[in-house]
Amino acid sequence: MPGPAGEPATSLYAASMGTDHGHTHRLDLEDPTLREWDATVLHASPNNGIVLDRSAFYPGGGGQPPDHGTLLWGGVQTRIVGARGGDEIYLIPAEGDPLPLAGTAVRGAIEDDRRTTLMRTHSGLHLLSGVVFRDFGALVTGGNMEPGEARMDFNLPEIPGDFKARVEEACNAEVVADRRIDVKVLPRDEAFAIPDIIRTATNLVPEHLTEVRIVDIVGLDTQADGGTHVASTSQIGRMQVVKVENKGKGFRRVRIRLAQ
Ligand SMILES: [Zn+2]
Repeated sequence: MPGPAGEPATSLYAASMGTDHGHTHRLDLEDPTLREWDATVLHASPNNGIVLDRSAFYPGGGGQPPDHGTLLWGGVQTRIVGARGGDEIYLIPAEGDPLPLAGTAVRGAIEDDRRTTLMRTHSGLHLLSGVVFRDFGALVTGGNMEPGEARMDFNLPEIPGDFKARVEEACNAEVVADRRIDVKVLPRDEAFAIPDIIRTATNLVPEHLTEVRIVDIVGLDTQADGGTHVASTSQIGRMQVVKVENKGKGFRRVRIRLAQ
């Protein structure tokens, strides 16, 4: 999904689309259902955070916030309150929690409720962008999410009076249809040969990427994407369109909420 409104929609593509990031192997992209795993600390400092050899913490990007969780080591717990990508994926420890030294074997765990709700929310935004493109021809210009709540911005000069109700009905029809959500990695040329692959208003996939990660809601929406998703649209659950705001000059902001 694209970045927050008002900023260029770069954040989605800033996420690494391979399964390695710096020195960390990304288990979150390999298996978004994984919640516990074993790893070794490669680096830890109070300023930068903790780098693991293998990590399932989503580092944030594409409007999806980072995961929370814990690292357990020798009876000690380090709470992880965030993560960020850069040259490495850095896990942010809770203030005052002990830091494992480089070389320490740790058991990582992701806070399941938060991550699972974010996966549903993120997938719900795909569904929303797919429906609004299919039914109204509008491109996405931005978006952002919290667990269970999200907004997405569209370039949509004219909307019918029943737009909000129609979007909500169409989204829930797609939830009921239980479409499969597939993820695959394709060579760049092959990926860009898929029609409408970049559902944002501009194509911001960096030049240097030779492979592109594709997220396909089968039969509805195919996008280049670096986030985590549920396996089928029924897992998103019922979607409510809370509000449609007119932000001027064809700029419409659609706010959604998921059923608990
Ligand atoms: Zn996505």
